[in-house]
Amino acid sequence: MNKSSLFSLVLVVIGCTTTDQATQDTRFMYNPDWSIPAGPVQIADHIYQVGTATLTSFLITSDEGHILIDVPLEENVGLVLENVRKLGFDPLDIEILLGSQAHYDHVGGFALMMEETGAELMLSELDGELVANGGRGDFFLDDKGLFPPAHSSRTISHLETVTIGSHTLTAHLTPGHTKGCTTWSGEFTIDGEPEMFVSICSLTAHPGYRLVGPDPSYPGIARDFCQSIAYLRDLSADIFASTHTEWFNLEEKTKAFQDGNRRAFVDPEGYMAFIDDSDRAIAQKLMEEGEPDGCEAVMAGEDG
Ligand SMILES: [Zn+2]
Repeated sequence: MNKSSLFSLVLVVIGCTTTDQATQDTRFMYNPDWSIPAGPVQIADHIYQVGTATLTSFLITSDEGHILIDVPLEENVGLVLENVRKLGFDPLDIEILLGSQAHYDHVGGFALMMEETGAELMLSELDGELVANGGRGDFFLDDKGLFPPAHSSRTISHLETVTIGSHTLTAHLTPGHTKGCTTWSGEFTIDGEPEMFVSICSLTAHPGYRLVGPDPSYPGIARDFCQSIAYLRDLSADIFASTHTEWFNLEEKTKAFQDGNRRAFVDPEGYMAFIDDSDRAIAQKLMEEGEPDGCEAVMAGEDG
C-alpha cells in the first residue's frame, strides 16, 4: 500500500467513525425520544408499565406466568428486561406477548424478546401478517419502518380473550391506524376495588394517510376509523392507557402515584377526552380531504 492510498484509507476510517457517531436513524418518523430510559411504574395491582419514557410495554403478572403487551424498539428490549427484573420478576416467566399495533415502535422488539424469554406471540390476523413480514408492505410506512420479523402462534379475533393465572384480557379490534390495531382491556384491582383497564391501540391518522377519495390508504380505512372511535366511546374505561405515554399523561400520573395516590391512573375523563380529541382530529382530516360531513357521511356509506 503506498502512502497516498494509506492516507485515503485513514480518511475513510475517520469518515466512517464520524458518520457513525452522527448517524441519524433513517426509519421514517423515527423519534429519538422513543428510547429515553425509564424505570418500571405500577398502574394497578399486577399491572406495570415497563417500557421506555415514551412508549409503553405493559407487564401483567400472575403466579402462573406473565403477559407483556407490546415491546417497543429492538434496542429497548434490554431496558424492558431490566425493568421486569427490578420489579422482582423473572423475564423467563413471561409466557405471552401481545401486540397493539404493527408499527416498529411497538413491535420492533418482539423477535428479540421471544428469543430472550421463550414467550409465545399472539396477534390479530392483519397485524400478525405485517409483523411476520418485518413491517414490509405497510400501507403507510411502506418499507421505511422495518424491524426483525416475528411469528405469531395464535391469531386473535375481536373479543377473544387471553388468560394468565387469574387475569383475563379481552381483545377489541379497533382498526384504522393499522389494519389489525388491537385495543386491550381487563379488570384489575386497586386496594381490592375492581377497575377496568383499557389500553387504546391508537386513533391517529398521520398526515400521509388518505381516508377518502379514489385512492384511500386501504379500502374502508375511513369507515374503520369512524367505527373504532364509536366503539371505544361505548367501551367504559376506568384506567386509561395507550401505546404512547404522553397520550395518557404517564409522567404526571406516576408522580401522583409516588406521592401516595394509588388511584392515580384511574382516569375515565381522560379516556373520554382522548376519544373526543381523536374524533375531532378525524373530522378535521376528513374535512381537509373534501368530506365536510365527517364520520356521519362515511358511515352513511358515501365514502371509505
Ligand atoms: Zn403507529
